[in-house]
Amino acid sequence: MSSKPFYYNLAPEKILEQVQSSPQGISEAQAQHRLLHYGKNQLKGKAHKPAWLMFLGQFGDFMIIILMVAAIVSGLMGEITDTIIILIIVLLNSVIGFVQEYRAEKAIDALKQLSITTAKVIRDGKIQNIDSQDLVRGDIVQLEAGNAVAADLRLVEAHSLRIDESALTGESLPVDKNAQTLTANDLPLGDRLNMAYKGTLVTNGRALGVVVATGMQTELGHIARLLDQDEAETPLKKRMSVFSKNLTYIILAICAIIFMAGWLRGEDLLRTFMISISLAVAAIPEALPALMTIALAQGANRMARKNALVRKLPAVETLGSVSYICTDKTGTLTQNKMTVVESLSFDNQDNNLATSPLLLAMSLSHDVAVNAPKNLNGDSTEVAIVENAIHTLGFEQYQHLHTQYERIAELPFDSDRKRMSTIHRTEHGYIVLCKGAAEAIASTLSDTTQAQNLLQAADQWAKQGLRVLAFSYKKIKDLPEQTSIQSIENEFVLAGIVGIIDPPREEVKQAIAECKRAGIKTVMITGDHPATAAAIASQIGIFEENDLLLTGQQLAQLSASEFDKKVTQISVYARVSPEQKLQIVKTLQGKGHFVAMTGDGVNDAPSLKAANIGVAMGINGTDVSKEAAHVILLDDNFATIVKAVREGRRIYDNIRKFVKYVMTCNSAEIWTIFLAPLIGLPMPLLPIHILWINLVTDGLPGLALASEHAETNVMHRAPRPANEGLFAQGLGYHILWVGLFMAGVTLGTQAWSIQVAGSHWQTMVFTVLSLSQLGCALAVRSEHTFLYKQGIFGNIPLLASVLLTVVLQLTIIYIPFLNDVFKTSALTLNELLICFAAAAVIFHAVEFTKFIKPQKQ
Ligand code: ATP
Repeated sequence: MSSKPFYYNLAPEKILEQVQSSPQGISEAQAQHRLLHYGKNQLKGKAHKPAWLMFLGQFGDFMIIILMVAAIVSGLMGEITDTIIILIIVLLNSVIGFVQEYRAEKAIDALKQLSITTAKVIRDGKIQNIDSQDLVRGDIVQLEAGNAVAADLRLVEAHSLRIDESALTGESLPVDKNAQTLTANDLPLGDRLNMAYKGTLVTNGRALGVVVATGMQTELGHIARLLDQDEAETPLKKRMSVFSKNLTYIILAICAIIFMAGWLRGEDLLRTFMISISLAVAAIPEALPALMTIALAQGANRMARKNALVRKLPAVETLGSVSYICTDKTGTLTQNKMTVVESLSFDNQDNNLATSPLLLAMSLSHDVAVNAPKNLNGDSTEVAIVENAIHTLGFEQYQHLHTQYERIAELPFDSDRKRMSTIHRTEHGYIVLCKGAAEAIASTLSDTTQAQNLLQAADQWAKQGLRVLAFSYKKIKDLPEQTSIQSIENEFVLAGIVGIIDPPREEVKQAIAECKRAGIKTVMITGDHPATAAAIASQIGIFEENDLLLTGQQLAQLSASEFDKKVTQISVYARVSPEQKLQIVKTLQGKGHFVAMTGDGVNDAPSLKAANIGVAMGINGTDVSKEAAHVILLDDNFATIVKAVREGRRIYDNIRKFVKYVMTCNSAEIWTIFLAPLIGLPMPLLPIHILWINLVTDGLPGLALASEHAETNVMHRAPRPANEGLFAQGLGYHILWVGLFMAGVTLGTQAWSIQVAGSHWQTMVFTVLSLSQLGCALAVRSEHTFLYKQGIFGNIPLLASVLLTVVLQLTIIYIPFLNDVFKTSALTLNELLICFAAAAVIFHAVEFTKFIKPQKQ
C-alpha cells in the first residue's frame, strides 16, 4: 500500500482536523499563511525557453545557415569585408528574429494571464469568490453544476452531484458522487466517489468539499497532465508554412538558373554564387510566420481590452470569416436585469400554509444567497423572483418562512427539463415546490384544465416579451424511497405564474444592424418561450418579415433534409435543447457557413466546441462552457462579439498587407536580377546590396503594417470565405505584376545610368530599389483608399521606419568609409533626385492599382 494519505476513507470531521479547518472554513490570515508556505494552486506548465537559448535558436534557421556558408565561402576566397558584413547581417537578422519571437511569446503569455478562474469558498464563515490560484489546503469550496473543480476536494456534502472525470480517468460518462466515507483502501481514482479532483467538471448538482491538495500535489499534478493546452497552429500559419516551403523550392530553382546562366556566360563564379545565395536569402519570406504570430497575439490583446478574451489563437484570424452568429437571448442580447412585473396566483389561500402557495414557492424554491434585503446573489431570474417575494412579504416574514419550511432535498434546475423542485418539511409532512417554464410545469400538473389555463396565460404574457415562470406545489405525507425526478415531479397543483421583463441591451440593435451590413446573419437561440423570443427578436431587428421561428419541438419533427432546406430562413429558435444547438451548428456548417455560437451552460459545451467560434460568457457562463469555448465575453454582451469580428477582419487585412508588401518587394528583387542578364545588362546588384535591402526593408515596415488601423469599409463587406487563400482577391497578381513593374523601373534606371552616370550606376540601381520598396510600404497601407486621402500620419511607426530607412540609405551612400564597405559611391544631387523620382513613380503605380482593382463586395 502506498504511503500517500487516502482522504476518501476518513470521515469528514477527521479530514477537517487533518487539514486544520472547520465547517466555517479557515480564516483569511491562515489562508495567506498557507499560500506563502505551500505556494499557489497552479500546475507548472512547460518552462519557457530562456532568452539566450531562444536567441541561439535563431542560428538554426535555414536562411541563417545559408548565409553563414556564404560568409565562409567569401572568407576562403579572400573577400574578408564581405564575410564581416554578412556576419553582421546574420547577427542583425538573428536579433530581429529573436525580438519578434520574444514579443510573440510575451504577447501570448499576457493572454494566458488574463484567463483566470474563480472558486467559491467559505472563509471566516463567509462565502466569497476568490481566484482559484489562491485556494489552499483546508479551504471549504462550494461546487455547483458547471464549475471546474479547482483543487482536490474531499466532499463533505453532495446533492445529485455528478462529475465528468474524463480529463483525469479517461472515463467519458459523468460519475455520481456522494459524501459517504469509504472503507476500502487503495481504490483507483475512478472509484473514489467522495472525492472531487482538480481538472474535472461538475455536470450536475451541488456540493461542499474541503481542499486536501492544491497545485502539483493534486492527482492532476501527479500525473503532470496539463489540461488541454493545445496551441494549435492557426490555419493561416499552416497554409503559410506550406506555401513558404513551396516557394523556397521555386526560389532555389530560380537561383540555380541564375547561377547556371552566369556560369555559362563566363561571369565570375564566386560572385554569381554569392548573388544566387543572397537572392535566395532575400526572397524567401522567412519573417512572415513570426510577423503573423505577432499580428495575431497583438490582435488578441486588443480584443481582450474590448472584453473579448481569446482562448485559442486561431480564433483571432478566423473571426473575420464569421457569416452566422447564433446567440443566446438572456443576458447576451438582453440586460439580464430582470424585474417581476406581473404575477397571478392560481390557487386560493391554503389555511395550513403560512402564505399563498405562489409566494411560498417564490420564496423557497431557488438557490439565491440572500445576505440582506437588497443584497441578493444568484441566477438573475431567481433574484428577480426573490426580490419580488421579499417586497411583498417583508424581509422578516421571508426569513421566517425559511426556518419554518426547512429544505431537505432538491432536484436542481437543468435546461432540458426546464424546471426545478425543492422539498421542505412542514408540520404535517412535506411540501414539494416546483418552478419552471410554463410547459414544463403544465406537463406535471394533475388537472388538465389548470394546465390549459396556465399555457394560455403564459402565452399572452410571452407575446409582450415577458419571461414567464410558473410555480406548482404538492403536499405529501411521506417521502418516496428515492428523491428522483420520476418519483417527485408529478401530480402537482398549479400555484401561479409571474412575468418578468428583461429589456434588450441598448447597443445590441446597432450591433445587429452592423452585422447585417457586414453580411453576417444573427440568429437567436433561446431556451425561452417562442412568443417571448419573437417579441424580443423583433424589437432588436433579428426577427424580420419573412423570417421563420422554429421551436425545439418543431425542429425535432423535421427530417435532416427538411431542416437543411429551411435553415437559412430561420432567425429565431425557441425552447431548444442544448443538443439541438449542436444540430443547428452542424447544419449551418454543412451549408458552408462559418458559425459563431454562444453558450453558457454545461450542456452547451459540445456545440461550443463544434462551432467555428465557440463563445462563452465570462460573467454568467459556467467553467465548463468556458473550457470549451474559443472566445470568452468578459461582459456577456452580444455587441462585444461584433467588435471582435471587426478586429478579426482588421487583423486578417493587416496580415494580407504585410504579406503583400514583403512579397512584392521580394518579387521585384527576383525579377530585377533574373531579367538583367536576359536583356543584356550586367548584374545590377552586389550580394551585399541584396542583403541590405532585405534586412532594412522587410522587418520594420512589416511589423508596423501589422498595427495598421481598420479600413473604413471593414464592416461593409461580406465575410471572407473561410477557405479563401491568402493570395485571393488579386494579391498573387499584385505580387507578380507590381514586382515586375518595380523591376522594370529599376532596370530602366540601370540602362539609362550606365550611359549617363558612369560608375554611379550601381549605386543608383541599389537606391531606386531600396526607396521604391519604401514607397510600396506606404501604398499598401490601404487596399482601397489612396494614401493622400488616408493621411500620411495614420501609422506613425511605419512612417518612422520609412524615414529611418531613407536616412540609413543616405548614410551608406554619402559616408566615405561605408562607400568602401557597401561598394557604393556618392551620388550627385541630380542622380539622387532621379532615384527619388523613380521611387515616386513606383509608389504612384501601386496607388493606381487601387483604382483599377475591383472593389471587394
Ligand atoms: P437563453 O437560452 O437565451 O439564455 P433561457 O435563460 O431562457 O434563455 P434556459 O436557461 O435554458 O434558457 O432556461 C429555459 C427556461 O427554463 C426559461 O425560459 C425559464 O422558463 C426556465 N428557467 C430558467 N431558469 C430557471 C430556474 N432557475 N428555475 C426554474 N426554471 C427556470
